[in-house]
Amino acid sequence: MSESLYSLIESRFPADRAKVLLETGDGTVWRYADVEAGAARMARALADRGVRKGDRVAVQVDKSPEALVLYLACLRGGFVFLPMNTAYRPDEVDFLVGNAEPAAVVCRPTDEETVRGIAARHGDPLVLTLGTDGTGSLVEAADAAPADFPVVACAADDLAAMLYTSGTTGKPKGAMLTHRNLAANGLDLVESWRFTADDVLLHALPIFHAHGLFVACHCVLLAGASMIWLPGFDRAEVLRHLPRATAFMGVPTFYVRLLAGDDFDRAACASMRLFTAGSAPLLAETHEAFSARTGHAILERYGMTETGMLTGNPYDAERRPGSVGFPFPQVEVRVADDADTPLPTGEIGGIQVRGPNVMKGYWRLPGKTAEEFTADGWFRTGDVGRIDDRGYLFIVGRAKDLVISGGYNVYPKEVESVIDDLPGVVESAVIGVPHPDFGEGVVAVVVPEGAGAPDEAAVIAHCKDHLANYKTPKRVFFVPELPRNTMGKVQKAQLRDQHADLFKG
Ligand code: ATP
Ligand code: MG
Repeated sequence: MSESLYSLIESRFPADRAKVLLETGDGTVWRYADVEAGAARMARALADRGVRKGDRVAVQVDKSPEALVLYLACLRGGFVFLPMNTAYRPDEVDFLVGNAEPAAVVCRPTDEETVRGIAARHGDPLVLTLGTDGTGSLVEAADAAPADFPVVACAADDLAAMLYTSGTTGKPKGAMLTHRNLAANGLDLVESWRFTADDVLLHALPIFHAHGLFVACHCVLLAGASMIWLPGFDRAEVLRHLPRATAFMGVPTFYVRLLAGDDFDRAACASMRLFTAGSAPLLAETHEAFSARTGHAILERYGMTETGMLTGNPYDAERRPGSVGFPFPQVEVRVADDADTPLPTGEIGGIQVRGPNVMKGYWRLPGKTAEEFTADGWFRTGDVGRIDDRGYLFIVGRAKDLVISGGYNVYPKEVESVIDDLPGVVESAVIGVPHPDFGEGVVAVVVPEGAGAPDEAAVIAHCKDHLANYKTPKRVFFVPELPRNTMGKVQKAQLRDQHADLFKG
């Protein structure tokens, strides 16, 4: 029996394929029938050019309906979809193409020449564009192809996609995701967030990342629902379309931006039933402001490229601020010590997970893969957290961000929340910097707000009042904003580099 994710998705398409699957910001409509035929044509065009089951198709394109069709064409053909961040510069694309050895690279028409140069250095894969001009246009090739390409049979364990991690803690790693991984996680989310055919998701996330591609699109496709497909997050555009939507998924920054004007209120959210957030921690104050303004709760969830979504706040039970909720139905989560022994309730340790959602391994990194799995098959997330007496998971931070000062563990998040409580502070990031006496010294980088912002001495005095001495920052720096990547993740490695010499000499 084929366990192709495409077959599962297709089995859940609405009987009436005239139903709208997506509508773009300017009102162009793509019905289920259009997307289904489009995927069959595009799979045919790729196959005719030599792409075979199991081949990787690397993709760096802007978000458009054709980009979604390309994803589905790959699932249909058994090709491994490999999206690349649209912000990646040629050097980064060069690294990924060299690393993944795709059979084809699909790019923006404006990047065609550069990508051809990169391809020539790495085994000369096929180069196609997702535009409608020129010889290499995949869209034109698909338009000319018959919509007859079959759904290629796949085993549950075959690769459906390969996604590189965000590279927050080092070089991006290719996570090999199978049909089983993506199907299990998609079904978990549809069930947990109660997606039905009546839903209209306002889709403003990028689709080169698990959040926008898998979480958002699979919820819609597996429920036979519809979506409003925006090219990116534009506050005015989101507000314009919100009154027709029932669901919205965002990174925390989206919510901060929505709250930046009074026109985001109860009336604007009248048709909405679901708001979710993830990819980076949602500040408690953002959630409070959001609830007060709209009467809705944001369901914060936690996941990663390697595992899909792991936990989320419950749809209709208490949402605990600061918590990322319970494991999704097919996911097991535990907190363990360094010897992989599960810890008692409330104790802080490494978050480990197990389930059909967990990737097959890192692409061409068998050593790294072996390192991250325990003997009994649990995956080490690299995040640190605790589970409370009612089973809610709290993330404390990344193991790599943990600061060890004078032999004591300092969890940056604890210090950050004390600093963030100070009036005149927007947010902060706490890092460890090499220190001759303490191993690492605690340093805070603070984003001040307006005239009433505290100075360095005031931040340190406030921390001394609320925290043990070893947790109190030795130095405080002020910046207009924290460095973030496209998913809203604070780039702590960058901050550590900037201050690496602070305590030297
Ligand atoms: P790399 O693995 O290359 O260093 P990355 O871990 O940032 O990069 P992703 O897979 O995109 O790559 O991100 C997953 C990580 O994002 C998680 O391990 C966790 O640290 C963080 N994360 C996701 N959701 C949340 C959340 N709700 N709260 C806090 N952190 C979160
Ligand atoms: Mg990671």
